[in-house]
Amino acid sequence: MKKRILSALLAAAMILGGALALTACGGDSNKLIMATNASFPPYEYKDGENFAGIDIEIAGKIAEKLGKTLEIKDVEFGSIIGGVQTGKFDMGMAGMTVTEERLQSVNFTSSYATGIQSVIVADKSSYKSIDDFFNLDKDGNWVSVKDGVKIGVQQDTTGDIYASDTVENWGFGENNVIRYKTGNEAVLALTSGKITAVIIDNEPAKSYVASTAGLRILDGAYTEEQYAICIAKENTALLEQVNKALEELIADGTVKAIIDKYIPAN
Ligand code: GLN
Repeated sequence: MKKRILSALLAAAMILGGALALTACGGDSNKLIMATNASFPPYEYKDGENFAGIDIEIAGKIAEKLGKTLEIKDVEFGSIIGGVQTGKFDMGMAGMTVTEERLQSVNFTSSYATGIQSVIVADKSSYKSIDDFFNLDKDGNWVSVKDGVKIGVQQDTTGDIYASDTVENWGFGENNVIRYKTGNEAVLALTSGKITAVIIDNEPAKSYVASTAGLRILDGAYTEEQYAICIAKENTALLEQVNKALEELIADGTVKAIIDKYIPAN
């Protein structure tokens, strides 16, 4: 099983992130408006009325360094980039993977965390690896998706993008993918037997499996990715400020301490 490794994209994001910006910032607001999708534990979720998670805490530290008040907007994952582009939000932070396609629309900061796409199945199912969803040729290559296999994803995420690709490109094909608004809804569909598996980032996958009876994660990573913060292409001044703050927080161990708090074994 091949893995997609996006480290080249990370390098590209870091070059962009490090680019010296001399242009003026869009607004003089003392707020830092962050768009997220708070259904992605442990990166962002609702704890009662409050937002909690790794991204929320890192963003809080960044805002502090910038002397701004952090304001969080909980929106659909798929509307974060558009809202950042139009200036509705200053930045998007949502366990967001740096991808080539997204880099056409927005800039990304340096990466602050790594993600892996995981596959969740019903514990009682017989699936042992991703290969079990496919008809294989004599060399073990994927030929086609087995009849009845339906993959649930969160709409517009990398899990959706990869799973919806063709079998030749290590996907399942558009027709075998069912898109849900949140990871939670995809997991509910799996527990009620409507779909075969859910493809989602590894930490939310662990979190869902821990909080939902009758699920397990298949061995073997589907992809490896880098998480970063997205900022409008023309807002290079903010990109530079956020990147500087983020890099200081990485260098002094703050980011690691926040991640370790939410992901103890890290
Ligand atoms: N890392 C995935 C992506 O960027 C999922 C993010 C999410 O669901 N919040 O598409």
